[in-house]
Amino acid sequence: MSTDYLSLSVHTAQSAVPYVPGKSIEELARDSGLRVEDIIKLASNESPLPSNPRVISAVHQALSTIARYPDDNGFELRRIIGKKYGVDPNGVTLGNGSNELLIMVARAFLERGRTAVFSQYAFSVYASATKSAGAFAREVPAKNFGNDLKGITEAIDEQTRVVYLANPNNPTGTWVEKPPFEEFLASVPSDVIIVLDEAYIEYADDLSIPNGLEYISRYPNLIVCRTLCKAHGLAGLRIGYAASSPQVANVLNRVRQPFNVNSLALAGACAALENDAYLEFGRRVNRDGLRQLQEGFLRLGLSWIPSQANFLTVDFGGRAQWIYDTLLANGIIVRPLVGYGLPDHLRISVGLESENRRLLDVLEQLLTQYL
Ligand SMILES: *Cc1c(COP(=O)(O)O)cnc(C)c1O
Repeated sequence: MSTDYLSLSVHTAQSAVPYVPGKSIEELARDSGLRVEDIIKLASNESPLPSNPRVISAVHQALSTIARYPDDNGFELRRIIGKKYGVDPNGVTLGNGSNELLIMVARAFLERGRTAVFSQYAFSVYASATKSAGAFAREVPAKNFGNDLKGITEAIDEQTRVVYLANPNNPTGTWVEKPPFEEFLASVPSDVIIVLDEAYIEYADDLSIPNGLEYISRYPNLIVCRTLCKAHGLAGLRIGYAASSPQVANVLNRVRQPFNVNSLALAGACAALENDAYLEFGRRVNRDGLRQLQEGFLRLGLSWIPSQANFLTVDFGGRAQWIYDTLLANGIIVRPLVGYGLPDHLRISVGLESENRRLLDVLEQLLTQYL
C-alpha cells in the first residue's frame, strides 16, 4: 500500500500552488530534439547579455574558499550596497534571490488570522508566500492591468500586516508614479509593512518613477526589495537584497536561514555593484530592444501593455496558446500567463537585437498563416 504523503502534509502545503517558471532551454531541447544553440529564451526576464566578465573573475577567485561557510552576515556586500545607494548597511538584509526576501517578510509578519494585500496580476510569489504562512491573501482588482493604489489602501483592514507592491510590475510591466506613490505611503498605517518590490527598477527610464530607497528613512515600515538576478545578470547565482529600517531588518534576520547566500553569490554581487558598465550597457540594449519589439508588434497589428521593465506583455487574443506552442516548436520560449488570469497574453522578455528580430520574423509568419 502506498502512503498518500500529500494528505499527510500540513494544510498550507496541500493548498499551495507550485511556482511555474518559464520553460528552460535545456528542457525544450530535451522535449523537442532542437539543439541548445538554436533555442532562444525570452521567458524569464533575465539579462540577454553574456555574463559579466568582472563577475566571472570574482567568482573564480572566490572558488578557492568554498570549503568554508560564507560570511553569514554578508558584511562586505552590505557595506557596498549601503555606500552605493546611501542606505544604512544595518538595514540591509541579503536573500537567496529577492524571492527569499519576499518569503522572509511573510514568515516574519504573517500568520493565521492576518492578511496580506496586493493587486490582481501581481507577482505570484506574493500569494504563495502569504498562503504558506497560513495568512489570507486579499487581491485587489487591477486598474489598466496595474496597481490601483487607492483600491489597495482601501482594502487594508485591522488584520492586514503586509502590502506587496511591485514597481514596475511583473507580469504586466506597468508602473506607478511618484505623486500617487507618496500619497499611498502616507496613507498606509505604520503598523502595516509595505514591501516595495523593485526587481525591474534599473530598467525604468521614466523620471516620474519613484526610487524606493529614498523613502526608507521616513517610513520605518517600508521594505524595498531589489535583485541582482535581472538587470545585473546574476540570475544563476541567486542573490537579492532588502533595504529597510534597521528595526525591520532585525526582525527579518530572525527568520533568515544561516548562510542563506553562498560565497560565490556574495563575491559576484560585490563585483557587479562595483562597476556599472555592464548594467549601463544592458539598459541601452533593453531600451533599443523595447523600441524594436514595439515597432514590430505595431507592424503586425498587435497590442501590448505599456512597460517600463525588460519585457512586454502582448495581447494575442484567442490565438495565444497556439502562438506559444508554435513559437516553442520554432525554438523560441516566451511566457504564457494563463496562471495569472491573462490567457490571451504572452509575456516576452526583451532579448538581443538578433533574438528580437528572429521572434518578430517567426511571429510574422505565424500570424499570416493563422488567418
Ligand atoms: C524576478 C522577480 C523577483 C525575484 O527574483 P529573484 O531572482 O528571486 O531575485 C521578484 N519580484 C519580481 C516582481 C520579479 O519579477
